[in-house]
Amino acid sequence: MLVSQDQFNSEPIPLVCSAMNYPWGKIGSKSLVAKLLPEEIDETKPYAELWIGFHPSAPSKPKHSSINPEDYPFLMKVLSVNEPLSIQMHPDKRTAEELHKADPSHYPDSNHKPEIGIALTTVRLFHGFKADFSDTLNRYPELLALVAGRSDREGMIKQVIRHENRAPAVRILLDRLKAQGITTELEEIFIESCTRYSADDVGLPLMFFLNLVTLKPGEAIYTPANVPHGYISGELIECMANSDNVIRCGLTPKFIDSENFLRFLDMDAKGIYTTRDKEDSCVYDCPEFNVAMLTGDSRVTIDSTSLGIVTSGNGMLGCHALREGDALVIPKGTFQTSGDMTLFIGAEKLSVESRI
Ligand SMILES: [Zn+2]
Repeated sequence: MLVSQDQFNSEPIPLVCSAMNYPWGKIGSKSLVAKLLPEEIDETKPYAELWIGFHPSAPSKPKHSSINPEDYPFLMKVLSVNEPLSIQMHPDKRTAEELHKADPSHYPDSNHKPEIGIALTTVRLFHGFKADFSDTLNRYPELLALVAGRSDREGMIKQVIRHENRAPAVRILLDRLKAQGITTELEEIFIESCTRYSADDVGLPLMFFLNLVTLKPGEAIYTPANVPHGYISGELIECMANSDNVIRCGLTPKFIDSENFLRFLDMDAKGIYTTRDKEDSCVYDCPEFNVAMLTGDSRVTIDSTSLGIVTSGNGMLGCHALREGDALVIPKGTFQTSGDMTLFIGAEKLSVESRI
């Protein structure tokens, strides 16, 4: 029997969540995802993502009662990133519907996928194209062979992505950097990535044109539709629309869809950064959802369906004891939190008061 949220009389429902063992995840007990799972850790396996929510690919299971998945239009994840993910972007709602209709095997649902990543450790990622490529081309003149004949940013990116023989330029650049010695994080990432992907992978030259962003713990970045991005390392919470639609363009053995990447790419769209300079509880405000990070004594008011995950410590949510790894559905209402836990809650709408 499906029971609507309002009938639960303010009782949180514990969830059993699934992990994804994608190869880019941190291995065994080095991974926060592995530590948050109730089962014994396999020290040989990568633990990349923990999914909290009801996406059909890996729906969480309520420990008692049932819920209606349609009441939860968003999904939360914990990511433990050991190696760079694919360079990707997510379609807007209309494009998602179009792609899903035309190619359902590569675009598994008709939803858009705006997302926010909140750093739990130092997180590095590629995010959006640089505003000016001249410094890149001065430092790495080998890339000039791939953008020949174009002077506008969009034209250069098209040229790199559509180039039919990228490998020679990539190999020359790799040889020079190896001979000279690495001087930047980007060069280190490039050299490491060259050991994993063939010299023809479009992501290898493309990374030089992207912004390399570092988030400190508590900082966050929101990624709207059509902004290229890719996590490189670190551990984070993600909240996104309930979707798995990804248009990939490099650094992956998976399906690459360069033409749709170019068709929908927004060269100038930017993410929204949230910085944080104190340790208090706070709300990360996104157009489609809010995410609360709760530490210590706080009061949270939830005005919609919501999902929660305790990423560290123990504490209380109202009269419910919670500990590290607990995932749950929390009903509408106002709750006091206390203890040394860090609890993340994703909801369409919520607000937080701290130091009460
Ligand atoms: Zn993404």
